[in-house]
Amino acid sequence: MVENPDRYTKNPKGDEQPEQVQWPSQTDFAPPPAPAACPACGQVTSGELSCQFCGQALFLPKGLPLSTIGLRFGGYLLEGVLFVFTAGIGWLIWALFLFPQGQTPAKQLLQMRVVHIGEQHTARFWRMFLREFIAKPVIAILATATFFILYLWLFWDRNRQELWDKLASTLVVSDRQGLLRPPPRPDSAQ
Ligand SMILES: [Zn+2]
Repeated sequence: MVENPDRYTKNPKGDEQPEQVQWPSQTDFAPPPAPAACPACGQVTSGELSCQFCGQALFLPKGLPLSTIGLRFGGYLLEGVLFVFTAGIGWLIWALFLFPQGQTPAKQLLQMRVVHIGEQHTARFWRMFLREFIAKPVIAILATATFFILYLWLFWDRNRQELWDKLASTLVVSDRQGLLRPPPRPDSAQ
């Protein structure tokens, strides 16, 4: 059997280029994110939003850990005291002034701040309004039907979220250095 010698010399001349195959790019096969070191404590954390060792919020600068459960419940208590001592209306006005900074009166005194997970920054006025005046009452209604067990949600939540935090997509962090205090609005200086 004699083979045609041309068969082997054709391709190098470019007469019959094989069809270009589109290989998937490297990024299509990107591996799942490797466990990263926490910027605050240096431990390898598997948390997505917060470090399971020191509580640092992983999408925020170093020095912004989740508020402890003790501080959260202390905040509820203090909020109630402030509400009573200001006849409610004082607390309300105070709160509305603080909402643009992601705080309520008790959170301001306890140096806590609400952050919006999506924006990875301080919750602003309408986020706070949603959290305090819509999400909280909804959860309160549900909680009365469950013997208030829903209020304990942050005990077993990985990111110490209450259910109203889930609804408003927020975390509560301790901001002792004021790292997340929004800069004054340019128009308010005039
Ligand atoms: Zn950590």
